[in-house]
Amino acid sequence: MANLLLTRRCVRSCPYCFASEQMNMNDLSAEVSWEDLIYVTDFFESSGEKRLSLLGGEPLLHKHFPDMVLYLLKRGFHVTVFTSGAIPQELTDTIKSFLPVDLLMPLDFVCNLNEPSCSPKKENERVEYFLKQFGPKCGPGFNIYRPDFDLLFLFDLINRFGLKRHLRLGLAAPIPGAVNQCLSVSSIRPAMQRLLSFAADFARNRLQMELDCGFTLCSFTDEELGTLFRIATPLHFGCGPAVDIGPDMMVWSCFPLSRLAPRSLYEFASLGELLDHFRARLGDLRAESGGIHYECDECQHREIGRCQGGCAAHILAAMKDEPSIRLPEINTCLQNL
Ligand code: SF4
Ligand code: SF4
Repeated sequence: MANLLLTRRCVRSCPYCFASEQMNMNDLSAEVSWEDLIYVTDFFESSGEKRLSLLGGEPLLHKHFPDMVLYLLKRGFHVTVFTSGAIPQELTDTIKSFLPVDLLMPLDFVCNLNEPSCSPKKENERVEYFLKQFGPKCGPGFNIYRPDFDLLFLFDLINRFGLKRHLRLGLAAPIPGAVNQCLSVSSIRPAMQRLLSFAADFARNRLQMELDCGFTLCSFTDEELGTLFRIATPLHFGCGPAVDIGPDMMVWSCFPLSRLAPRSLYEFASLGELLDHFRARLGDLRAESGGIHYECDECQHREIGRCQGGCAAHILAAMKDEPSIRLPEINTCLQNL
């Protein structure tokens, strides 16, 4: 499923922000136009893809957000909106008046929740108000960016607001050439031990999780993988391409790799062609360095596709200060970091 960035504006400034690269380097006022939304809709429909994720910044800030969602639904798309939920209460009310909560409507929200103790009180109040209005249509999302994170607050919000019992768990990735907080390669293992310390809470609260990209198989012992299997479906140790389309119709493999061979959506005739381009660039990168560990090059799990070797943004970030000895598009990217 591809992601369309409706706007670069946001209401939060998360320390791990994946989008910071796109938020800083372009016109913050840029928003997707109706013409481009219709182009994107036609492009995906003609490629046989009827699912689209809406991102930002904060997609709910787009001035035509409800109308654009209704348009996509009318065209038969399944829409997933990634939001912080931290918008002003009046805006939540306006959106709700256009998008009544109907459990059958093919529209879902993933609400990326930050630990309340790390967020301003006003932001927490706004999030809770949003969850009160849209709870049953919302699945919680959480991004790990330090090894000592807490998840207990999630169970409280899920139970209080009737959220979906499906957690989308992300691993913050480095943004090569920019500054954001994320786990270093050596802190992934302690973070995974911390994650599994909540296994009993997941089971008790009947919460399943879905691992987003960048998790690695070897950061778990065999016994831990057994525990993980009971609380995470599907078990996935992959890496992109995610396909992010900016408001100006530029496309990248994913946010952290936004400087690696970006293209305009207008250069491609289909989603398949676009995916081939970014798979090839990820392949180039992994041909130079298989994964985040030296062992990845020879790893049997990688050979049979069980693990892709972790987040390619770590690989690119590690190449940053090396001499220009890489393949042309990688060199060009490194020179621009
Ligand atoms: S490089 Fe791969 S793992 Fe890292 S954020 Fe992008 S798609 Fe995810
Ligand atoms: S491919 Fe790399 S990250 Fe994945 S299991 Fe093997 S050594 Fe670990």
